[in-house]
Amino acid sequence: MYKRVLLKLSGEALSGEGGKGFSEKMLTYLVNEIQKIHSLNIKLGIVIGAGNIFRGKELKDFRIQMADQLGMLGTVINSLYLKNVFEKKGIKSIVVSPIVNLPSVMPLKYDFIEQYFEAGYIVLFGGGTSNPLFTTDTAAALRAIEMNADILVKATKVDGIYNKDPKLFEDAKKYDIITYEQAIKEQIKVMDTEAFSICEKNNLSILIINFFKEGNLLKAIEGENIGTKVNY
Ligand code: UDP
Repeated sequence: MYKRVLLKLSGEALSGEGGKGFSEKMLTYLVNEIQKIHSLNIKLGIVIGAGNIFRGKELKDFRIQMADQLGMLGTVINSLYLKNVFEKKGIKSIVVSPIVNLPSVMPLKYDFIEQYFEAGYIVLFGGGTSNPLFTTDTAAALRAIEMNADILVKATKVDGIYNKDPKLFEDAKKYDIITYEQAIKEQIKVMDTEAFSICEKNNLSILIINFFKEGNLLKAIEGENIGTKVNY
């Protein structure tokens, strides 16, 4: 069983696929799935995207370096939103981010993060990498390594990585395990190449799971063979 986990959620996990804002139904689902693992004494970090608010490249009238700042702020908004949702369910969490100075956002300090974990808090890492031109996949890879995670779980809506598009090819096969070398060579789109290469260099595996099948997150963390593991 994994003991230190970084979970990467897309902003759409809060709004529903293709949606904007926040969906009560999605939030309820998300909290229930997290609750299942929170009680297991796992040190859990979460990086959340901002696709439900802003994605830099979707803001056509902006220079990308400007648009991406809105995106990064969106990840802080989502982190604070989630903190409030968790709080209502009695789940302790804390938002850390290097990009804003707000009363409910703590600075990113490794020693403090360890203390938050020891005290049973989920740590919500907001603000992406702090740099425009990156995505929250890359932020997830960085934070996972910084918190010494033993796995990075990428929550997706697909069952894993296939050798070809399962929607187009009936004989498409899902990989249980794939190497970073193979994932980068085959230009697997499920996660950024930057994230793959940071994890590869630092000997951290990524587990791609279908987060929207109930119980999958718990199964993944208990070490059940679901999804696709990207190995170094
Ligand atoms: N972003 C950024 N730097 C980062 C992380 C995120 O500039 O290190 C911006 C970028 O505009 C991105 C947006 O924040 O589009 C939201 O992140 P992402 O697209 O990864 O969200 P997701 O698709 O996972 O919801």
